[in-house]
Amino acid sequence: MNINNIYIQDISEFFNNILNISILRADLIDPVVSGNKWFKLQLYVRDAIAAGKTTLATFGGPYSNHIVATSKYGASMGLETVGFIRGEKPVALSPTLTDAMENGMTLHFVSREDFEQTEKITSHNQDPSWAWIPEGGYGITGAEGVKSMLTIKDTAPFDTIICAVGTGTMMAGLIKAAAPHQQVIGLSVLKNNISIVEEIKALLTPDESKKNFEINHDYHFGGYAKHTPALIDFMNDCYKKMELPLDFVYTAKLVYGVEDLATKGKFDPTSKILIIHSGGLQGNRSFKKGTLIF
Ligand SMILES: *Cc1c(COP(=O)(O)O)cnc(C)c1O
Repeated sequence: MNINNIYIQDISEFFNNILNISILRADLIDPVVSGNKWFKLQLYVRDAIAAGKTTLATFGGPYSNHIVATSKYGASMGLETVGFIRGEKPVALSPTLTDAMENGMTLHFVSREDFEQTEKITSHNQDPSWAWIPEGGYGITGAEGVKSMLTIKDTAPFDTIICAVGTGTMMAGLIKAAAPHQQVIGLSVLKNNISIVEEIKALLTPDESKKNFEINHDYHFGGYAKHTPALIDFMNDCYKKMELPLDFVYTAKLVYGVEDLATKGKFDPTSKILIIHSGGLQGNRSFKKGTLIF
């Protein structure tokens, strides 16, 4: 894990040099604790250690980037990790869960109904040595940790910052850190997740809520983790032309969306756009070999 691997890649050429577009390569921190996951976890982990906790406990689905990132980051900081996983235990574990186990995470499988009631899970598993992290790292602590995504490199020249949105924690952190001349645009990867605006605002102060941001709901490709042949082609194209690896759940939809919005005239030709590469590439292992060229 090395946040110094992050750099800003100029991809204007991919946009025919009509627009000034770059991408913050936060995916390069680590293949597993990549992108926003390192930033979202950092203050949860710091607080857990400061409070004398020895175990991180959290929640996620069987392909969750958050789960596997917690397992590796926790282990690297000398902490035990426990993951409560949505759904019955499958016959064959996903690559994500296999990795989490290999990193030392103890997995508990919970039915979909029980998974919805996280307070029940936390109250049935009370242990003073455990620090709980909400699913996806959602929370003010997670968002505060994301603020340094905009200071790790000089992002002041950019006036438009665009990211993918799941729980909205990363976007909330980017809004917190954004300068007055910057607008933050989030592309939601969930279908019709209209409540996301309120969920993001819940992580902001009243003043931060007045900053310049908007959510776009047009690039979910059918819903969370759904994809189309066109999206796969786009991913291969991005790699061929820019050596830019993208994941199919978040960042491929993000870059596709930015390109589509650009062709529709969404951006002022003088604007300087920064896309956030939030990582997540480990999820591509669920594809059949040969689907992707990278
Ligand atoms: C988890 C994840 C996101 C979503 O982040 P939120 O803070 O939940 O909105 C975006 N991109 C990638 C690659 C992720 O793994």
